[in-house]
Amino acid sequence: MVYDVIIVGGGVAGLSAALFAVRRGLSALILTKDLGGQTASTAEIENYPGIGRIEGPQLVDNFYQQARFFGVEVCFDEVVGLTVGGDHFFMQTQTADAPHQAHSVILAFGKTPRNIPAIGEEKYRGNGVSYAALWDTPQCAGATVAVIGGGNSALEAATALAGVAAKVYAIHRGDAFRGEQILIDRLKNTPCIEQVLNATVEEVRGSAQVESIIIADVKTGQRRELAVAWVFGAIGFEPKTKFLHGIVACNEAGMVVVDDRGATSCPGIFAAGDVTAVPYQQIVISAGAGATAALSAYQYLNKRRGVRSFKTDWGFLRK
Ligand code: NAP
Repeated sequence: MVYDVIIVGGGVAGLSAALFAVRRGLSALILTKDLGGQTASTAEIENYPGIGRIEGPQLVDNFYQQARFFGVEVCFDEVVGLTVGGDHFFMQTQTADAPHQAHSVILAFGKTPRNIPAIGEEKYRGNGVSYAALWDTPQCAGATVAVIGGGNSALEAATALAGVAAKVYAIHRGDAFRGEQILIDRLKNTPCIEQVLNATVEEVRGSAQVESIIIADVKTGQRRELAVAWVFGAIGFEPKTKFLHGIVACNEAGMVVVDDRGATSCPGIFAAGDVTAVPYQQIVISAGAGATAALSAYQYLNKRRGVRSFKTDWGFLRK
């Protein structure tokens, strides 16, 4: 089967792209490791317009059910290679013997959590070092935990963990948190959260599980040990775009470069959401970018097939 479009990634950008593609009559397959990406790991979402307050996994399920209702196919597998042959794109996945084929591609696989650069991080990853605060929060009941990072993800994780943990250290290398003010205020007003600013984690220690961390003051270099059972990394995300090298242009940070219609440097390949070089990473922006990429893929396919396309809503802005 050669799909009209294969969407790589099942976060909000990918699910939104898929919805808009199938509603234009395109056959669409989502290839993804999991559903929801960063949104699925967010406890509460309060800034998706028109929704009020919703849990991240619930919003993802809404996106997913809507896309499935209109006929989107989903295959849970990780894309590890992309090649171009004639007017076909071939996507090699982790487990399938033969590559999946499509006439166009939308890259929407977001970013992957950045690992804490500390001794012992790798050893204890999965044994107390976690990058999924939402999923591991119930296991932290009554424990002392640390959250590393100063952005929105760290602020949200620390506040969510404070609901069950005995104590939360919110550790940030800067001298002030830099997320949304409402999240900073919430953190400051939560009694069991202790802010540890100007500090980095140098080492994670333990036996079978994490038992403590060594932190260092970035100004004085002074080190001290904090007894914690869990360490949650929330120090940003990195794009895993190496497999696109030589096919689509990425910037120096590895993010896919797109124009205002979601087109990459390779005709027929579009991109949307956090994998692209966009200035703001928000769910509503990713959802909109996914829709844009799908409509651009539709235009691209129509042009190739000599089919008369629809006009953009306000007429063609440019040739
Ligand atoms: P982020 O905004 O990139 O913040 C990463 C944090 O980790 C920064 O405070 C950074 O420190 C710190 N950091 C980076 N590398 C580090 C290292 N090697 N050691 C120690 N600390 C390090 O990442 P994020 O919080 O995951 O947010 C990602 C995007 O999603 C953002 O655009 C954010 O606005 C968005 N988001 C939005 C919401 C919301 O709207 N409610 C919720 C979650 C995420 P510095 O400050 O010193 O650079």
